[in-house]
Amino acid sequence: MESAAFVRSAFEQLGLQLFERGWLSSNNVLFRASRSTPATIVDTGYGSHEAQTQALVQEALGDVALERIVNTHLHSDHVGGNAGLQTRWGCETLVPEPSFDLARRWDETRLSYEHTGQTCPRFKVDSPLEAGGVLRLGDYRWKVATAPGHDPDAVLLYQPDSGVALTGDALWERRLAIVFPALEDDRAFDDALSALDLVERLAPRVVIPGHGRAFTDVAGAVQRSRQRLHQFIRQPERHLDYAERALLMFHMLEHRRRTVSELLTWLASTPVFVRIVARRGLGAGEAEINARRVVDSLLAGGQLQRHGEWVTLPGSPG
Ligand SMILES: [Zn+2]
Repeated sequence: MESAAFVRSAFEQLGLQLFERGWLSSNNVLFRASRSTPATIVDTGYGSHEAQTQALVQEALGDVALERIVNTHLHSDHVGGNAGLQTRWGCETLVPEPSFDLARRWDETRLSYEHTGQTCPRFKVDSPLEAGGVLRLGDYRWKVATAPGHDPDAVLLYQPDSGVALTGDALWERRLAIVFPALEDDRAFDDALSALDLVERLAPRVVIPGHGRAFTDVAGAVQRSRQRLHQFIRQPERHLDYAERALLMFHMLEHRRRTVSELLTWLASTPVFVRIVARRGLGAGEAEINARRVVDSLLAGGQLQRHGEWVTLPGSPG
């Protein structure tokens, strides 16, 4: 438990509070206001959890206003609370520089929401977050570094004095996030490896990932992620399998229950799955067969349950 005490004292020193959320919403990291910087949140969860995100922030800040939002990348589960927080507190919003213009213009085809069949309330952006730069959070200076792979535009934040890093979806403790650009081109796995190399060089003592608890066995997490990536490089079709399953489970976390036919229609028509079908070398006519295979494999594995025509998450009432 020594590491838990170390983590607590590092967070206290940095003036940060971690809201560990789950898989539908990313974690949120809230920084207290200091003399030089306003109260700031890093990543804001999924849109359907907006009210919960605001309640967590309100409870932690009391009368202090949230004045700034920083996003590690623009996936729906990291920016879904932006719009609501902006409406309530008028926060300034910083996003990674390569995504800044897309978000400013709200380019639906190039932002990921249409592609993945996810929803995200439109938000405004104020400033680009430059990789290689420094961001003040609380009383400390955090380095901003590019962390591609899962998302080509993502950044991670690193605080050298305390050795705390916010890795977003570039590094989790046990699992590996989908490497989205590798659904188009297998070479993108190399970018994910380079993000792991960067974390290894920085050698943080504590990682706050985009999902899951904060952890201190960073070398172990890097090693597991690397092994998984090498497995995907050897057998890219396993990454396609993983992506299909993870995206369908995310959809079920959002909607809770769907009929079989709704799921099959959604899978066969959502661009990311259409793309995966093409990557498998299947014709468009085989999309439905592929969709059925994905649903059946999750039902067989117990990750989903079927009650008549309805598909639910385990433990949900039919
Ligand atoms: Zn992500």
